[in-house]
This record gives sequence, C-alpha cells and structure tokens, in this order.
Amino acid sequence: MRHLHFPTGDSIPALGQGTWRMGEASRSASDEIAALRHGIHLGLTLIDTAEMYGEGAAEELVGRAIADCRELVFLVSKVYPQNASRRAMAAHCEASLKRLGTDQLDLYLLHWRGSVPLDESVEAFERLVEAGKIKAWGVSNFDVDDMEDLMANGGGRCATNQVLYNVSRRGPEFDLLPWMSERKIPVMAYSPIEQGRLPATGSLQAIAGRHGATIAQVALAFSTRRPGVMAIPKASTMAHVDENARAIDLCFEEDDWASLDRDFPAPRRKQSLEML
Ligand code: NAP
Repeated sequence: MRHLHFPTGDSIPALGQGTWRMGEASRSASDEIAALRHGIHLGLTLIDTAEMYGEGAAEELVGRAIADCRELVFLVSKVYPQNASRRAMAAHCEASLKRLGTDQLDLYLLHWRGSVPLDESVEAFERLVEAGKIKAWGVSNFDVDDMEDLMANGGGRCATNQVLYNVSRRGPEFDLLPWMSERKIPVMAYSPIEQGRLPATGSLQAIAGRHGATIAQVALAFSTRRPGVMAIPKASTMAHVDENARAIDLCFEEDDWASLDRDFPAPRRKQSLEML
C-alpha cells in the first residue's frame, strides 16, 4: 500500500475507507463491519466517519468494527459546522469519541464551512489537541478562498482538506490541488468513485479493459495518482473492498490519463468547488 506523510508525522495509506450510509440498517450492519475489518486487514487503515452519518450510527458501527484493533487505524471524524464553536465543539467531540469507543481521534474535521467564525473553530480545535482528545484537525469542502480565510484566521496547523474529487469532478485540479500541494497540505478525495455512477463506457472502459481492471479501480487510481492526494471510497461488501485495495497496485501511465481527457476534460478555468 502506498503511503503519504501526514503533517502530524503519521504515515497514512493513500486509500482509506468511507462510512457514509453505514450503520443505518441493522440487517446490513454485520456485512459492513466485516467489510471495514477486511479493509483494515488489507491495509486500508484510514477510516473516515462523521457525527452526521446516521446521526451517530456510522460512528457506532465503526466503534464496533475497530474495538479490538483501534491501534491499527487512523481514525477521522467530522463535526457539524453548527457544532464547531468554542462552547459546543468539545461536547460533540466527546460524544463522537464515546460512540467510537476511543479516547482520541487521529483527525477531526470541520464538515463544511458554516456561520461560526473560523478563528473560533480553530481555537476550539487547538484546545482539543492540547487536551489530547484529537491528534490533529482539518477542514472539508473548503475552496481556495476558504483556505485563504482559514490561514488568515490562525489555521496554519490545518492538516488536510477533504473535498469532492474524482475523474468526473476535476474542478479542484485548476487551483485547489496546486494551492494545497504548494503548502504541503494533503488532500482527502471523497466520493472517489462518484457513488457508483461513473459510466462503464468510453475511455474509462477502454483503460479498464487494457489493464484488466474495473471502472472503480481506474477511478481510484485516478484520484490518488498525484502525490499528496488520498481517497476514501466507501464499500460495504468484502468483494468491493478487495477490488478497491487492489487498485493501488495497478500501474497506469500518463497515456492512460491523457486518454481520459476526451470524456472528462481537465478544467481550463476556475470552477467552484462542488459538494455532495
Ligand atoms: P463513493 O465512495 O464514491 O461510492 C460509494 C458507492 O460505490 C457505494 O454504493 C459502494 O457500494 C460502491 N462501490 C464501492 N466500491 C465499489 C467497487 N469496487 N465497484 C463498484 N461499486 C463500488 O461515495 P461516498 O460514499 O459518497 O464517498 C466516500 C466517503 O467519503 C463517504 O463514505 C464518506 O466517508 C466521505 N464523504 C465525505 C463528504 C464530505 O462532505 N466531507 C461527502 C461525501 C462523502 P457498496 O456500499 O455496496 O460496496
């Protein structure tokens, strides 16, 4: 598994596991737990969750999945923007920790920018670092102007920005990815397989065929091809987890990526950051 160096000094796999919509139906919980544990076994040890997902249900499911292997996992959760204030954040972090069955998060993210002033959220994050409740903090769904505001508001220790980025959503390549790369802040690409909606036609299909790969694997390799960009696909079956884990070992070349430009052109001008 290829790894990235994180600002905290941790080494993080370029491919992790998302958990949105997990934990919401009791009949699928055991399959989801098995899938997450299988992923950890294969080296997909970054697990992304949020207090929003199932209003805590995804965190509870992750807690069950990692109960006997917490030390193997780089655990990420997110706080709702309305809870990212000086007064509320600590209690919301504590509730996440309890659901996850741990006493420290590796990374805590502001889910998207809301009305709480950024300097206040930064202060609340830094207090949690000092208290040992989180190792690092970051943001999500921040475009370049948001990142600049963050830096101007004491946010120099932001450890990542989690954004929508995949082969069909290339807007961040124009300015956000270069901005992050210049400052050596890693990017976490969410919905890297476009929630399963990518077309099994055209250049995607051709590249997959040439390499004996699947569309999902090409998409994952695309999202993680730049240094400093990791991806967090969500998979609730062991078969999908297996397939995703193998994506990182496939060797695609510049010609492959160039052939994608016809169907999925690289951005030529600024596009506002999209969100799902
Ligand atoms: P995604 O990972 O692009 O796609 C998930 C969908 O793809 C699921 O339906 C899954 O099916 C399917 N899938 C997984 N592996 C596959 C494979 N090898 N072949 C075919 N289909 C496959 O979408 P996402 O869940 O939106 O994004 C990933 C994670 O990013 C989320 O779970 C969440 O942790 C995070 N996220 C963050 C934000 C944010 O605002 N920060 C927003 C969206 C997502 P099965 O479940 O049946 O395996």
